[in-house]
Amino acid sequence: MTNYIEPAPIKDKENPLESMMSRFDRAAELLGISDEMYHILKAPRKQVTVGLPITMDNGKIKVFEGYRVIHSTILGPSKGGIRFDPGVHIDEVRALAAWMTWKCAVVDIPYGGAKGGIACNPREMSAGEMERLMRAYTLSMLDVFGPDKDIPAPDMGTGPREMAWLMDEYSKANGMTVHAVVTGKPLVLGGSVGRTEATGRGVTVTALAAMEKMRLNPYRASAAVQGFGNVGSYAALLLHERGVTVQAISDVTGAYYNPRGIDIEAAIAYRTKNKGLLEGFGDAEKITNEELLFLPVDVLVPAAKEDVITDENAANIQAKLIVEGANGPTSASADDIINEKGIMVVPDILANAGGVTVSYFEWVQNRIGYKWNLERINRRSDRILKDAFEKVYLTSQEYNVSMRLAAYIVAIDKVAKTYEFRGGF
Ligand code: NAD
Repeated sequence: MTNYIEPAPIKDKENPLESMMSRFDRAAELLGISDEMYHILKAPRKQVTVGLPITMDNGKIKVFEGYRVIHSTILGPSKGGIRFDPGVHIDEVRALAAWMTWKCAVVDIPYGGAKGGIACNPREMSAGEMERLMRAYTLSMLDVFGPDKDIPAPDMGTGPREMAWLMDEYSKANGMTVHAVVTGKPLVLGGSVGRTEATGRGVTVTALAAMEKMRLNPYRASAAVQGFGNVGSYAALLLHERGVTVQAISDVTGAYYNPRGIDIEAAIAYRTKNKGLLEGFGDAEKITNEELLFLPVDVLVPAAKEDVITDENAANIQAKLIVEGANGPTSASADDIINEKGIMVVPDILANAGGVTVSYFEWVQNRIGYKWNLERINRRSDRILKDAFEKVYLTSQEYNVSMRLAAYIVAIDKVAKTYEFRGGF
């Protein structure tokens, strides 16, 4: 047994991050990695906590706590978003950082995993307060961030605007413009074309790859997509463009079902005019978000939030294929039920890795000082996702395990083998 201090447990018991770690444990066991290697891969490399005193608009100073956790740099510089949310906690950031390590490894991009966060409420903060907080956080993380060290990106509560401030503050401190220190930037500031739709596109590419294995003709297949935000709406649109009949879509206002198929372009146009919501969308029967999960469709795409498929409702799912657009939509307790029903699952760390893949392309373009066009971005990201799908599929056959466990096996094997070559102390 290695002399290893177990980090404090994550707060809730039934949370998606614990689910992720329990699958990691199963995959590590199947792969037969040594106890030492297990602990090397599980423990984060670096955890930084900073106090950020910010002058608020009312003149008072408020101190925020900010975190950055580097889980692994074995495959390359660490990559991961920055979350601004009142519920941010170091345990959660630590688990999300590990999640990034497996996601990057499964799609074979040369990055380790990291995550950052600040406990704050962006909905209650002015643009000025957000800017001061982001700049203060960046300055505190000057020796952590770097294009060859650790490359942040947006996550919940942050977007291109915050990434622009980060890039600017980092550049000022270094006396030169450093585009490649962060991804998810506005297009004019070195962002990449294709990033907005990249995650939904990857969901579609991996869904089609799975349908091919299952001999499901997209032109005869039906789908239900839960969530109609960035991931869900692009996944629905691209599946629809590839011939799949998308029978149901949903958002926080409920689900909309039409067995003859939903006109996705019309739904996007409706949402845009209707303050971003589908409420009142016509030509469809209104059902609940849970009923959507049980529809008699071929493909189910949960692309809204975590933990929607659980041991309590998994038995009612009729879909033959689940493609996880969201992070952690299936709780670990539902895995066995889904496997016993013979449902194929394209797991989150593979299905939604299109986003981090195009973020990687943004960094590559920044480093070579050149811009690729959309055609090149799409062609290259489709190839990466198809190859990753194929590798996970073959691994699932080789080990006779689910696609989910196979994805973890691929990721853990890659990181462990790289570590063995690099060596420790
Ligand atoms: P988003 O905020 O753009 O959209 C979320 C959608 O889900 C909205 O339509 C919202 O109305 C809906 N929703 C919220 N709560 C719901 C509920 N209780 N029931 C049904 N629908 C609900 O978010 P997004 O960027 O599309 O992210 C969705 C999921 O995909 C998240 O789990 C996110 O972590 C994951 N993800 C996103 C990306 C990305 O590039 N955006 C990459 C990887 C993973």
